[in-house]
Amino acid sequence: MQAIFVGIDIGGTHTRVAIVDALGRVLADRSTETPTGGDGEDLVRWLENAYHTCRGETDNCPDPVAIGVGVPGVLEPGRSAVVRAVNLPFIEGLPLKDMLVERTGLTTFLDCDTVAAAWGEYCAREKSPQRMAYLTIGTGVGAAVILDGEVLRHTHHTAGHLGHVICDTSTNAPECHCGARGCLESLIAGPAIAAAARAADLPDELDKIELAFHEGDPGATKLIDTLARHLAVALLDITHIYATDTIVIGGGVAHRLPSLVRAAARRVDDTPSVLKPVPLCAEPSALSDYSGLVGAALLAAKHIRDANTS
Ligand SMILES: [Zn+2]
Repeated sequence: MQAIFVGIDIGGTHTRVAIVDALGRVLADRSTETPTGGDGEDLVRWLENAYHTCRGETDNCPDPVAIGVGVPGVLEPGRSAVVRAVNLPFIEGLPLKDMLVERTGLTTFLDCDTVAAAWGEYCAREKSPQRMAYLTIGTGVGAAVILDGEVLRHTHHTAGHLGHVICDTSTNAPECHCGARGCLESLIAGPAIAAAARAADLPDELDKIELAFHEGDPGATKLIDTLARHLAVALLDITHIYATDTIVIGGGVAHRLPSLVRAAARRVDDTPSVLKPVPLCAEPSALSDYSGLVGAALLAAKHIRDANTS
């Protein structure tokens, strides 16, 4: 029987717990709305109860080996607590790792949510990419990079801030909240797309933009083309920096606006570059919104594996 692990995905709106086997199969899971305030005790108590509920549904399985948690924020150097979480300030400073160890008795690993999602996507591929980047496009743009089976960590346990690569150098490029102009995030994150759609007299809901594009609406076609041009610039830049052979694109925007991912991938394919791996796969996520949950559990499995072989 496969070893089993616990995945926890703490998101800005929803938090989930799952029992996951070593092959990434979800055996039981629970979801709730993430609290918007408090001292974190409500959240941890829900995690503890959800874990026991899931465990009760999988009592024919061996005891879980460890817990992996994906959190939306900056982790302290030892990865035992979150030091900054813009959307969930109440978890800042919360000793989350120690609290979960105490309540479940299981070894626990914290990681950035984007890293967890990237690892989930990496493990979900039939043939593991040698050099893979993962972009998640939602309210913002997050990214992680996996090179030769290892997560690249050089800034806050991640591969830097790839959502802020500059893709539009024109003087009227939109200003990003980071202070620069023309960052990928300021161009293709959900709020940026909604603003661009409104400026073009289009509906600002992603599903409606996708529908208008499929119906051949000239405004929607032009919008997708512009967004895809920016995204393709970022994909090529990332490829030139990390020599990636695969870039996986996930997140709410990618799920609801698949035409954008397809159009950007086509642009990447059509761009001549002797430095571009052939073929560079720019592809949608395989696990959809389960990437982070499954990835957190499989990262815990990796940490245990690494500890046993070191
Ligand atoms: Zn920026």
